[in-house]
Amino acid sequence: MSLKIWLGDKLVDQENAMVSVFDHGLLYGDGVFEGTRVYNGKVFEIDAHVNRLYVSAKSLRLNIPMTREQLKEATVKTVEANGITDGYIRTIITRGVGSLGLNPLSCKTPLVIIIASTIQLYPKELYQNGLKVISANTVRNHPLSLPPQVKSLNYLNNIFAKLEALDRGMLEAIMYNHMGFVAEATGDNVFIVKDGVIFTPPVSSGSLDGITRQVVIKLARENGYEVIEKDLVKFDLHTADEFFLTGTAAEVIPVVEIDAHLVNDGKPGPITKQLMAAFDKYARS
Ligand code: PMP
Repeated sequence: MSLKIWLGDKLVDQENAMVSVFDHGLLYGDGVFEGTRVYNGKVFEIDAHVNRLYVSAKSLRLNIPMTREQLKEATVKTVEANGITDGYIRTIITRGVGSLGLNPLSCKTPLVIIIASTIQLYPKELYQNGLKVISANTVRNHPLSLPPQVKSLNYLNNIFAKLEALDRGMLEAIMYNHMGFVAEATGDNVFIVKDGVIFTPPVSSGSLDGITRQVVIKLARENGYEVIEKDLVKFDLHTADEFFLTGTAAEVIPVVEIDAHLVNDGKPGPITKQLMAAFDKYARS
C-alpha cells in the first residue's frame, strides 16, 4: 500500500516523497526528529512530543516553518489520510537544501516530513521472557559536545553501540557516559529496581528525556513506588533486582540479563510486570 507522506506543506504520495541530495539532513545529519505512537486512533502524548521537537530544533537554531498547532494538525491529518489507528509516526525536520559546505545558514527553508505507518516492535516473546543486553564500550556523547537531550538526525553514537550489541548476538546495549555513569540504551531509557525502590539515571547523565520515561515515572509513583533519579554505575545494573527499558516503540520491556549477569534469576520481575500492565492500560484506554 502506498502511504501519504507529509512533505513540506502538504500530503503527497509516497512515490513522490523525495528529498534533495543537497538537503543538509542527508549531507550532515543536520536536523531533528520525533517518534510518536498512535493508539486507538489517538496520537499518544502529542504535546510532549511536539514540545521536545521544538526544543531540539531551538538548540540547533533550526526554525520549524510551522507553529506547534499547525504541526499537530499536519500530524493528525497524516495519520487520518493513512487510516492509521495503531501505529507509529516519524516526524523529521531537516535543515533543508543548501550548498555542499557545512554552513547551515546556506539552507533557506527547513523541510518538514511526517510519516505515519505501522510499527515494527520487539518480538512478543521478549516481553514475556525479557531482553538480554550488554554494556557498550562506546562512550555516550559528551553532553557539552552534543547534548543527548537533542533528538537529532545524528545517531552515530547510538549506532556504534547498537553494532557492539549485534556483534555479540544481543539486541540492545547500555551506554555509559564519560564518567562511567549509566546513560541509556541505544534507543530507550534505563530503569532498575533495588529493594522495592525504582531508580533511573537523571537526564544529565547523558540520556534523552524520554516521554515514555516520564509517563512510567508518573505511573510508578501513582502505584505507590518511590522513584529516584540518581547516577548509576555498572555495579548497580549487575546487582539490580529488576531491570527494564522504556521507549516509544519498546514501551516497557524487561531486561533479564546484562553482561552475563542474570536479573531476577533470568525472569521479568514483579514490579516490572506491574508497570508494563499499567503502561498498557494508560496508553490503550
Ligand atoms: N533514548 C534514545 C536515544 C531514544 O532515541 C529514545 C526514543 N526512541 C528514547 C531514549 C526513549 O524516548 P521516548 O520514550 O520519548 O521514545
